[in-house]
Amino acid sequence: MSKNVNSVLVTGGAGYIGSHVVSALLDAQVTNLVVLDNLSTGFKESLTKDINFVLGDIQDFCLLSKLLAKERIDTVIHLAAKTVIPESITFPQRYYQNNTFGTLNLLQACVENKVKNFIYSSTAAVYGKAEHNIAETCSTKPINPYGHSKLMAEQMLIDTAKSYPLNYVILRYFNVAGADPSTKMGQRTLNATHLIKAAVQTACKIVPYLAIFGTDYPTPDGTCIRDYIHVSDLANAHLSAMQYLNEEKGSAILNCGYGRGYSVKQVIKTLEKITNESLPVLIAPARAGDLPQVVAQNTKIKSLLKWAPQFDDIEFIIRTALAFEQKMLNIKHF
Ligand code: UDP
Repeated sequence: MSKNVNSVLVTGGAGYIGSHVVSALLDAQVTNLVVLDNLSTGFKESLTKDINFVLGDIQDFCLLSKLLAKERIDTVIHLAAKTVIPESITFPQRYYQNNTFGTLNLLQACVENKVKNFIYSSTAAVYGKAEHNIAETCSTKPINPYGHSKLMAEQMLIDTAKSYPLNYVILRYFNVAGADPSTKMGQRTLNATHLIKAAVQTACKIVPYLAIFGTDYPTPDGTCIRDYIHVSDLANAHLSAMQYLNEEKGSAILNCGYGRGYSVKQVIKTLEKITNESLPVLIAPARAGDLPQVVAQNTKIKSLLKWAPQFDDIEFIIRTALAFEQKMLNIKHF
């Protein structure tokens, strides 16, 4: 791959998605790469030792401003965020403080330091309506504080770009899962709440059973349907977004998903097929803030960024998540 001329700051680069984005940027040989992370949910071990790592918070304006100036950053990839919907319902302030105020702070520092490109990690939670084939033009009506906190940040970015020479790509992630196929990175989060991570932790006997949150949803098998996207495909979408911004074609809001969904029960069945063991499950009440079905329409990202996913395969996604979990446990493969 030819050398890339960007000087890039990745916030949240030690996190699950961030570490995969950083790895993709290293492969693309960006001229300068800086990772900022407060390590609240990230792990330094997810990064190679030679990374220019800064321990700090996006709410620290002085730190941000100095860093952007010193490193002559032209592109910010902003992933630092709190991302757990149930937690956002219990502790909404944490989400507005970190996701909304933190992004405002970062945007202010970017404007003052003439950052040209801003790639923002947003979420399907901004739509808030149960739908199949959700297009970027669908109405945005979040149903939980997490979705609201991210949508407000989107709006601040859009408005900033109207008044300053800054272009953006907002990537609305659907359900990110899996791990780097080499297992050098993956989701290290300790108290996992996301389905595939929780399921592979159950398969590895780290937790005794998987709770199925609700079986009475208006879906074919009664459990919720999600569009699971492999984290490496998502990481590559960030590189394509940077390329798009470098070509000065303007700004864009893009869904990141494969355009098809799997139910909770289908995920469990696939995992059972891989391990050849039945997974201990418990039927639990529906979780607050969950929608029956969230599936992307992805024609826009494919046409605008020429994004070509490589791992659109639910079995592969679960296999890589399981392989990483086993590596962390240092146990034998099934
Ligand atoms: N889910 C579940 N058991 C779990 C975790 C999740 O049944 O231990 C369900 C959850 O209710 C939702 C789907 O799996 O219907 C995806 O949830 P996740 O937390 O992975 O992502 P979200 O879509 O909420 O961001």
